[in-house]
Amino acid sequence: MAEGNQPAGRGNSTDSLRRHNLAVVLELVHHAGGISRSQLTRATGLNRSTVAALVGELVERRLVLEVDSDVRAQVGRPSPIVKPGPLAVVIAINPEIDAVTIAVVGLGGEVIKRIRYATDHEPTAREAVNICAAVIDGMRAELEAGHRVVGVGLAVPGLVRSLDGVVRLAPHLGWVDEPVAAMLAAATGYPVVAGNDARLGTLAESTFGAGRDLSDFIYLNGGASGIGGGVIAGGSTLAGAAGYAGEFGHTLVNSAGVVCHCGGVGCLETEVRRAPLLELVGLTDADSDELESALLASSSAVVLTEVHRQLDFLAVALRNAINTLNPQTILLGGFLGSLYAVAPAHLNALVAHQPLRASREGVTIGRAALGANLLMIGAAELAFASVLTDPATF
Ligand SMILES: [Zn+2]
Repeated sequence: MAEGNQPAGRGNSTDSLRRHNLAVVLELVHHAGGISRSQLTRATGLNRSTVAALVGELVERRLVLEVDSDVRAQVGRPSPIVKPGPLAVVIAINPEIDAVTIAVVGLGGEVIKRIRYATDHEPTAREAVNICAAVIDGMRAELEAGHRVVGVGLAVPGLVRSLDGVVRLAPHLGWVDEPVAAMLAAATGYPVVAGNDARLGTLAESTFGAGRDLSDFIYLNGGASGIGGGVIAGGSTLAGAAGYAGEFGHTLVNSAGVVCHCGGVGCLETEVRRAPLLELVGLTDADSDELESALLASSSAVVLTEVHRQLDFLAVALRNAINTLNPQTILLGGFLGSLYAVAPAHLNALVAHQPLRASREGVTIGRAALGANLLMIGAAELAFASVLTDPATF
């Protein structure tokens, strides 16, 4: 479709209002995965004909599809269901110490394809970029036949400058001041945006996962590189002054512990680690679903002792977080969710007694809902932002 009736670059208030409303409607469809036109009318407060015109424009841009509602019992005409369309996709990437994971993700948080490329050592920034470029080149013909790639979203286990996607520090990967977004853009030809993995996971859970109806929750993720987290407080992401809030992995849980790579002693991520779990179940390389299956299948007392030991230290961090932030829920992702799955009663009992009574009342512990797709969906959200904030650019 042409750029509406307004020549590009000569926006007026009617045009900017239309574009704003397009974004509101697309965002609702994206988050709901499917929503009726009458629900869109109620949710936006716009009149029915305006909503019909906005949906019509999004259909012409192939960002959404309309399908007939199969609800027959309603009085009057059934309202068509508006769903995310398959055309727009992003490529989501998560470099880790033992693999680079690459996925194709559609609107609505749909992971269409996911490839885990295992590496035998921590990839350098250049190696990670080369792996991504090769995998993307392998998919390019198929991708471009059925989709239009909006861009690439990168979830990095480290501190990322959001302005230009420079990885300031990814300690476990050994990356310091690596311009990874620019390198990937040059190698693939797509625009690239990057962010911290745990914060993107928090965003994904808040948008599509176990946090979608929660205003106050803490998300903690355990990955191969350590433990990260994020906080949703009063419905918003808690960012901190420079965007680095949520580093729960470096809170003190054991004053008699070992020195962490950060320089501190007894950090959560020095006590609660994925590597000894893999070793105990005899795996050298596994994604989070495989590790969890192995832990649940194990009947070894040694495995259970290690799981309890790690949960005891996790509970110390949770006590501090609950007393400080008063969340409704703690969501555990990655191998932390697996630890909890092995011994839920053990952690529940600790959290039910250690924090202040008022702070802990009503706090629930849950699993992140998005499993192995979590970081892919979070990274995709970042890359979809340009289309979601202004669908008329697609
Ligand atoms: Zn530390």
